[in-house]
Amino acid sequence: MNDMEDLIEWLRGVATEHNITVFTESQWPSNWVPQSQIEMRCVWYNPNWFPACERPLTLAHEIGHILSGDGPSNSCNYCSVNEKAESNGDLIAIMLLLKYCRTHDITFETKQQLIEAFKIPTSMVKSVDRATDYTLYSMRKKYSELAATSTGVFI
Ligand SMILES: [Zn+2]
Repeated sequence: MNDMEDLIEWLRGVATEHNITVFTESQWPSNWVPQSQIEMRCVWYNPNWFPACERPLTLAHEIGHILSGDGPSNSCNYCSVNEKAESNGDLIAIMLLLKYCRTHDITFETKQQLIEAFKIPTSMVKSVDRATDYTLYSMRKKYSELAATSTGVFI
């Protein structure tokens, strides 16, 4: 996807909207793992993360930790989008992604096309199912604003 930078900018806007500070440092090495701190509402986003195609999802995932607000204080002291036990961060990351698609008139015919377009790693596919699952009433209620925009990206 060519507009990765646009998505990253949009995610930064989401962070600002929710009083989340995004720290970034152009000299971080590519393997410096993005982090978040819930009480401080801070996210450390690595603009050099490699592979580059995962960058938007790493940012969305860290923002997801803050928005979920129910994790331990060092919710993400070591995690990447490839890690598994990170379901809240992943779920909200996907919800944010779907909201981005919705607000940018980006649609897909199938889930697989969405996954390929955003290079969603295998470990997050389950979260795609959850985010698009109408039966998740409790989660949809809790994240109602995001949930309201979670569907409708498939034509
Ligand atoms: Zn995490």
